[in-house]
Amino acid sequence: MNPGLARALRFMGLNAVEKTGHEAIIVDEEGNQYIDCAGGYGVFVQGYQNSRIVERAHQQLDQLSLSSRVLLNRPMIALAEELARLTPGDLQYSFFCNSGAEAVEAALKFARIQTGRPRIISTYGAFHGKTLGALSVSGRDTYRQPFAPLLPDIIHVPYGDAQKVAEVMDDQVAAVIVEPIQGEGGVIVPPDEYLPALRGLCDQHGALLIADEVQTGIGRTGRLFAVEHSGVVPDLMCLAKALGGGVMPIGAVVGRPSAWTFFDSAPLIHTSTFGGNPLACAVAQEALRVTVEDDLPQRAATLGVTLLNGLKQLQGRFSRAITDVRGRGLMIGVEVPSAGVGGALISELFQRHVLAVYTLNNDRVIRMVPPLVITAAQIDQVLKVWEQALSAIEPMLDDLIEG
Ligand code: PMP
Repeated sequence: MNPGLARALRFMGLNAVEKTGHEAIIVDEEGNQYIDCAGGYGVFVQGYQNSRIVERAHQQLDQLSLSSRVLLNRPMIALAEELARLTPGDLQYSFFCNSGAEAVEAALKFARIQTGRPRIISTYGAFHGKTLGALSVSGRDTYRQPFAPLLPDIIHVPYGDAQKVAEVMDDQVAAVIVEPIQGEGGVIVPPDEYLPALRGLCDQHGALLIADEVQTGIGRTGRLFAVEHSGVVPDLMCLAKALGGGVMPIGAVVGRPSAWTFFDSAPLIHTSTFGGNPLACAVAQEALRVTVEDDLPQRAATLGVTLLNGLKQLQGRFSRAITDVRGRGLMIGVEVPSAGVGGALISELFQRHVLAVYTLNNDRVIRMVPPLVITAAQIDQVLKVWEQALSAIEPMLDDLIEG
């Protein structure tokens, strides 16, 4: 394993080994149960080991798990049809791969070949994955600098301000890539007019709009896809994480016909051996079915308000330890004054069996992204534990803020 990761987890006091899980609960090897508010960074929308999704995986495993790559397979066709039905506007073609970073890599290549242009506009604080292309459009120097030089012709602008995009937009731009809500950047919700303004700028200049819904997609923010809050239809949408139902890895790029014509002349221009395999696709189709039939987006919207308001009340009482609470649906960020305060809180929460971690590009924000199947009683318990954790660190606060 990665010894650095083990060290980082131990540093935050997260020193248990997980064994299994159900719904919003992780169980460690000792049998301790934790309410998981880290949610696999967005993977566990339908909960751990969702019985319908696991059952569908078993069925498909018995029938055909990997495809010949020579013939089409039925689960892949069915998943593509389902995504065409569920995604907004005329998003209707799908390319399948195995992770979020791969979906981003594919979208960047698609945008370049479709437009014949080199340039991509992205945002500071963005997280799009850690493969070289995805890293090139991500926005944190810590992860980028050791691997420089990255892809050329990438421009980063501040997130949430369409005017900054307008300043660098021209007819060399292939695409603007954006998270509808920045996840790893610290759960940053942009102003309502942001995505519509980006859509307008892309239309004006013949550039594509790529929505990275790897973390926000599949119900997390209170709608099936976060772009639905603004009514904007992107040209390409990247999906992964919860698309796999917490059971299989899968990634996808879903595109509009107008952004997909390059495949007509170059059908093999971008391929993936395992992408579109029947097992992952069958699981993903069931994951979408569960998400829609159990109305998980609505659940995220309702329970999200309870959690957000509860945390905001705690911010009122513990205003030195919590400097902001923000988010949408069950994608919530709790901002703290220093990484030291965050680390101490994460450790105190863990000791009381609530799992939470920092966002990757901002170690002053603790994310709260539990599975959407979390219960109202569990949300109450999480809030109670937060209150205890905040009380526990209060005597050390001066040191923690400075340190
Ligand atoms: N895009 C976004 C918005 C993400 O949050 C992530 C993962 N945190 C990725 C892409 C990369 O996904 P993966 O780790 O599956 O490569």
